[in-house]
Amino acid sequence: TSFAHFGFDEQLMHQIRKSEYTQPTPIQCQGVPIALSGRDMIGIAKTGSGKTAAFIWPMLVHIMDQKELETGEGPIAVIVCPTRELCQQIHAECKRFGKAYSLRSVAVYGGGSMWEQAKALQEGAEIVVCTPGRLIDHVKKKATSLQRVTYLVFDEADRMFDMGFEYQVRSIASHVRPDRQTLLFSATFRKKIERLARDILMDPIRVVQ
Ligand code: AMP
Repeated sequence: TSFAHFGFDEQLMHQIRKSEYTQPTPIQCQGVPIALSGRDMIGIAKTGSGKTAAFIWPMLVHIMDQKELETGEGPIAVIVCPTRELCQQIHAECKRFGKAYSLRSVAVYGGGSMWEQAKALQEGAEIVVCTPGRLIDHVKKKATSLQRVTYLVFDEADRMFDMGFEYQVRSIASHVRPDRQTLLFSATFRKKIERLARDILMDPIRVVQ
């Protein structure tokens, strides 16, 4: 597979060429067409596999399709991950590739300023990258709303469980409309992750790195 097989438009291809990636990684080859088709997906993949781009590129396509149909407030895509560092990395990739369409991404994570994050959320963003507890805090304070979310990603789900975020992860899933597309990434596929997948994904396709 080459990048041309994904059928991305010229703006996104331009950003991908600028990143100087020569070819898609295995998780991208398998995962991108599934995510583009609108199906739910479980990706068993580690850091370094290229998994971030595998959910960001289809996310951008999804947002551009939704933006035409949807009015209203709040993000269209939400990416939930375990740590501040990962939030910042994913947010940087969203900005890099989202530049193709002038999409706005906001990162909200524990340890950062609630006030500054709330301000950024209220200014508006199609993409929110977050740690679970902090997103819930902002929703409770009505700094943002999940009503418009139709693309939901849980990255490093096993690590979020290890850090004790299972309740928050499930709570976020239960507050996003059921006709969403959900992608779940995890380095391992333990019983607890399998159970989560059964509860929050609909008829998912599983991809192993
Ligand atoms: P990730 O597994 O998403 O954390 O990505 C690991 C690193 O691989 C990041 O620095 C990406 O920028 C890079 N990367 C992602 N996709 C590709 C690709 N197709 N070719 C080369 N590098 C890539």
